[in-house]
Amino acid sequence: METKELFMNGEFVPIERGMISVRTHGFAYGTGCFEGIRGYWNESEQQVYLFRLREHYERLMRSCAILQISLPYTVDQLIDISAELVQRNGQRQDVYLRPVAYKADQTIGVRLHGLQDDFIITSEPVGNYIDTNGMSAGVSSWRRIDDNAIPARAKISGAYVNSAFAKSEAMQNGFDEAIMLTHEGHVSEGSAENIFLVINGELATPAPTENILLGITRDTVIELARRELGRITRERQIDRTELYVADEIFMCGTGAQIAPIISVDHRPVGNGKIGPISSAIQQLYNDVVRGRSSDYRAQWCTPVYAHERVS
Ligand code: PMP
Repeated sequence: METKELFMNGEFVPIERGMISVRTHGFAYGTGCFEGIRGYWNESEQQVYLFRLREHYERLMRSCAILQISLPYTVDQLIDISAELVQRNGQRQDVYLRPVAYKADQTIGVRLHGLQDDFIITSEPVGNYIDTNGMSAGVSSWRRIDDNAIPARAKISGAYVNSAFAKSEAMQNGFDEAIMLTHEGHVSEGSAENIFLVINGELATPAPTENILLGITRDTVIELARRELGRITRERQIDRTELYVADEIFMCGTGAQIAPIISVDHRPVGNGKIGPISSAIQQLYNDVVRGRSSDYRAQWCTPVYAHERVS
């Protein structure tokens, strides 16, 4: 179904009206923050499930706090608005929701305070964002933005220039994806994904202080690995060369889902094929997001059709 409406400044409007001025602060300076949320179509239940909507909006609230953006909605209201948007668009397929809170002032001058803020949400059909059948990765020459430069724990629009540098460098050098290091030289994350290594049957992932976006998929993976596979995750500093000797590596994110990495800097990861733990996590994740696992559905999946208001 084609996208018909978006949510903009308090109302649902036709998609053609979703426009901003060329003088918008957020456009000129990147002073905005956003979320990327997936909705999954469940054929047997004829339902779209929005995955971990609450956690996405809680993170948006934290990004707004860091950027001094005031959002005139509660998390519960944002959940209701999101479900209504997909309903109004009549979307019965996988969808991608993009809420954006940004500095909407049309004044010249870089700052955060004392500016008018706006908020939009769009919802559109989506497929796979990146290859989930085994990707090659290269360690980037671009370092991950530092917490004291542009905090990575906030999902700040302007910060994605850092990701774009890394992703294009990787692709233009023949890799599928980039792995960025911190200024200290530890593994941080991909261009738009968190990273996990499997080492001796345990999972390892960079700690929250390694300039990562604290991913909701990352949290989901940690939980599924522990509860379903009995595998613990160590959140710690990871050296670059651990990437070369890990048994398995995968990236994860809302867009990327679970994306195994089969080579890093031209060195095969393990035997160069998707490993058993990555593949088990991938299957679990695919079931959970589509609302096919009753253990997680009530907690993590918001149904769009026959949605009961939470606010
Ligand atoms: N890191 C970055 C830089 C990202 O853009 C994303 C995608 N939002 C992630 C990690 C993964 O986060 P999530 O699982 O919440 O989508």
